[in-house]
Amino acid sequence: MRILVVEDEPNLLRQLKSGLEAAGYAVDTAADGEDGLYLGSTETYDAVILDLGLPEIDGLTVLDRWRKDGRAMPVLVLTARDSWSDKVAGLDAGADDYLAKPFQTEELIARLRALIRRAAGKATSELVAGAVRLDTRSGRVSLNGEPVKLTAQEFKLLSYLMHHKGKVISRTELIEHIYDQDFDRDSNTIEVFITRIRKKLGSDLISTTRGLGYSLTDVD
Ligand code: CA
Repeated sequence: MRILVVEDEPNLLRQLKSGLEAAGYAVDTAADGEDGLYLGSTETYDAVILDLGLPEIDGLTVLDRWRKDGRAMPVLVLTARDSWSDKVAGLDAGADDYLAKPFQTEELIARLRALIRRAAGKATSELVAGAVRLDTRSGRVSLNGEPVKLTAQEFKLLSYLMHHKGKVISRTELIEHIYDQDFDRDSNTIEVFITRIRKKLGSDLISTTRGLGYSLTDVD
């Protein structure tokens, strides 16, 4: 899962980036509205965290432009403390959730998880495919109830496939959702991760549709 954070306070931006990365997300950042607008218009994100008070272009305008352009990714806006008018304006402009500053990074991550889950049409924090379970809250993966250790990239890839179970996902789409912007992307590594996940979780969990991509099947 890949997240964009648009926030002009350098310390908060750093704190959010490291917190989100530790929680297993690929993270891109922008420190003003212009950069944020550009990234959100041109790159693919599973969710965006958007501060409303931003230099260059304010957050509400950024959000409004995305929505008018048909960019539908879930957006959580950060508002000034107790500013109910900010909250209302944010929700009116198409925000999916808001959080008032100051906040705990843990709460932000919990809300973000819920947003991504809802966008994928999942009601619970535990995703299941056959004998494999992935707990999006703890980041734990198990096979037949036994914990299985995955690397950060393997987890990101499996999590994306599990959020979109039953759909065929192309390599390009996987690359867009598991790496941040600065990462040296190589589509061959996807093949490698898939092979490793199959080794750890069973060879029939992920099926390959030649020329199209990969999908998760509900085998037992
Ligand atoms: Ca600000």
